[in-house]
Amino acid sequence: MTTIAHWVNNEPYAGGSGSTSPVTNPATGAVTGEVALADARDAQHVIAAAAAAFPAWRDASLARRTAVLFRFRELLDARKDELAAIITAEHGKVLSDALGEVARGQEVVEFACGIPHLLKGGFSENASTSVDVSSLRQPLGVAAVISPFNFPAMVPMWFFPVAIAAGNTVVLKPSEKDPSASLWLARLWAEAGLPAGVFNVLQGDKVAVDELLTNPAVKAVSFVGSTPIARSVYTTATAHGKRVQALGGAKNHAVVLPDADLDLAADSMVNAGFGSAGERCMAISAVVTVGSVADELVARIAERATKIRTGDGTRGTDMGPLVTKAHRDKVKAYVDQAETDGAKLVVDGRQVRPEGEPDGFWLGPTLLDHVRTDMSCYTDEIFGPVLSVLRVETYEEALALVNANPYGNGTAIFTNDGGAARKFRNEVEVGMVGINVPIPVPVAYYSFGGWKNSLFGDTHAHGTEGVHFFTRGKVVTTRWPDPSQGGVNLGFPRNT
Ligand code: NAD
Repeated sequence: MTTIAHWVNNEPYAGGSGSTSPVTNPATGAVTGEVALADARDAQHVIAAAAAAFPAWRDASLARRTAVLFRFRELLDARKDELAAIITAEHGKVLSDALGEVARGQEVVEFACGIPHLLKGGFSENASTSVDVSSLRQPLGVAAVISPFNFPAMVPMWFFPVAIAAGNTVVLKPSEKDPSASLWLARLWAEAGLPAGVFNVLQGDKVAVDELLTNPAVKAVSFVGSTPIARSVYTTATAHGKRVQALGGAKNHAVVLPDADLDLAADSMVNAGFGSAGERCMAISAVVTVGSVADELVARIAERATKIRTGDGTRGTDMGPLVTKAHRDKVKAYVDQAETDGAKLVVDGRQVRPEGEPDGFWLGPTLLDHVRTDMSCYTDEIFGPVLSVLRVETYEEALALVNANPYGNGTAIFTNDGGAARKFRNEVEVGMVGINVPIPVPVAYYSFGGWKNSLFGDTHAHGTEGVHFFTRGKVVTTRWPDPSQGGVNLGFPRNT
């Protein structure tokens, strides 16, 4: 049994709350550790360390900052298997998927290595006679990153490499369900030579978050989690004068047109629906079939879904368990309800029991057909290995269905018709769109973010929007006095 502490000034910090929460291996059901839960005083201690480290880190040269980032990137690349194993042990996703998560986070570290270029300002000589104007971007101070359970390494890495590269200091508050990845990353930063106090970890729950949202030393909040919490984080933190990007939940649709390559579409639905047991914010959970395509597509998805091997992610399986027993039971209840509501259960994952692991939090791939938009399996974000098929007759109906959904994180269209794909790209009200690509997570030099109830705030993660989020602009107007000019003039300055 390990104790998972906070991390401050490049060393573990036990905190004084005395309160902990159990951490479980979802494949075995065994409690493997206890994570500290911060009280307000613990949180204040961590935030104060980050605030104290800010002036020196802000003033560290770009060369020094990027040297640390490059070292961090090299260490991460060399030791990614260790991190993947930690993720699988606490989250449950299979090892190959955990490695994929690390790789997508590493992309952002690589993007942040280019910070000298990204922070270059503008300069206008002689904006007015003998007056020059320049612009620069400066760091904010302490940035809080509050992350969900489903990507314990990648989601924090959407933010902290850019925040740190830009000269901020960071307090990461990971999910209490899988907190160990954060400490591994913190140790790696220390090894890479990051000065004490620049990257800190605060373990905990709502109590810790509340302090981050209200403490005056915290200047920016990057949150990722469910929509109700994202909305409340946005409201509270903005009311306390902070800039906030709060990414929320999702219900991602894949529209399949009659001319689509059905094998590609079926493979994509299975990969995007059941990968990571559906616990991805970009998972496809609703398949919208247009016209005649439905029966054949459902048959091909079912054929593939029944072959998926569910089991312990360290043993070469395709799909791991759900993160907790409570979450597994909740997802299962959605399947029960869908059956009661009249959905057709084509593949039933409720009976799946991997051999040798009786206490894991299992639910096999589940395929529901003839789902209606008023059923709870459609209206709610299930966040499990459950694919719902909705049948419509036309493209217009499919588009209207997607656009009527309150979430707008990701979507995809499957078709061989470039004109239809282009129309969809233009008309769909969703932040990230895939054309024959099921999980269109943008590469690091673009920005990640949804629309509507999937993001509160107006700045997406990483890419140039990330750089803007973690910096503020300053414009400097300069004149070096010429003794021949001068005199009092109360008029508004004009360019001459
Ligand atoms: P969650 O909302 O339960 O928790 C997210 C974070 O908020 C955690 O750090 C948690 O400790 C904290 N938290 C929980 N309750 C809180 C409260 N009442 N007040 C303040 N903080 C609180 O989310 P989760 O279950 O960990 O993650 C799954 C959710 O995250 C899904 O809805 C998923 O769609 C979403 N998600 C979204 C994206 C995206 O990019 N939009 C990415 C990943 C996950």
